[in-house]
Amino acid sequence: MAGGEKVDYVFKVVLIGDSAVGKSQILARFARNEFSIDSKATIGVEFQTRTLLIDHKSVKAQIWDTAGQERYRAVTSAYYRGALGALLVYDITKRQSFDHIPRWLEELRGHADKNIVIMLVGNKSDLEDERAVSTEDAKEFAEKENLFFLETSALQATNVENAFQTVLSEIFKIHS
Ligand code: GDP
Ligand code: MG
Repeated sequence: MAGGEKVDYVFKVVLIGDSAVGKSQILARFARNEFSIDSKATIGVEFQTRTLLIDHKSVKAQIWDTAGQERYRAVTSAYYRGALGALLVYDITKRQSFDHIPRWLEELRGHADKNIVIMLVGNKSDLEDERAVSTEDAKEFAEKENLFFLETSALQATNVENAFQTVLSEIFKIHS
């Protein structure tokens, strides 16, 4: 979108989940359509934006990425403040990253808006041979917790757009 055009809505969305699940690469894919194999651990709180049209309105998505504070309870409340959506990310090849999801969810629900739209994201779907979390297990968990669910590959650009579009459209329905 050209600079100077009006923005109708700004929606804050946060990325959470264990270190190395691919949060920063998911964001790079969505915001800049980029991917890098040796992404460095993120330093300093940061967000990136992308403006898109939803129902003929211009919506600026402000996507926050953790700054390597993925240790339990190290993410500060400022990070969650005002977030209307969240991508709760695990790595389909790392069972532990999925086992930690309930913790992240609890932390998220303790800090964020009560209407927050949450998408459970199983990333690295390109590594099917190393899969350690079945799609069925994740789907079942998502249904039980009332979360949207998708498997993505930031590497192959699979479902990244879909994940953000779904979250932003749901936020739009609630807040427009
Ligand atoms: P973060 O700590 O959650 O931000 O994770 P990063 O985005 O830094 O990614 C951690 C590592 O996983 C990096 O080496 C990435 O290149 C790699 N990675 C991220 N997404 C994918 C993906 O979809 N597929 C594969 N095969 N590797 C990925
Ligand atoms: Mg990162």
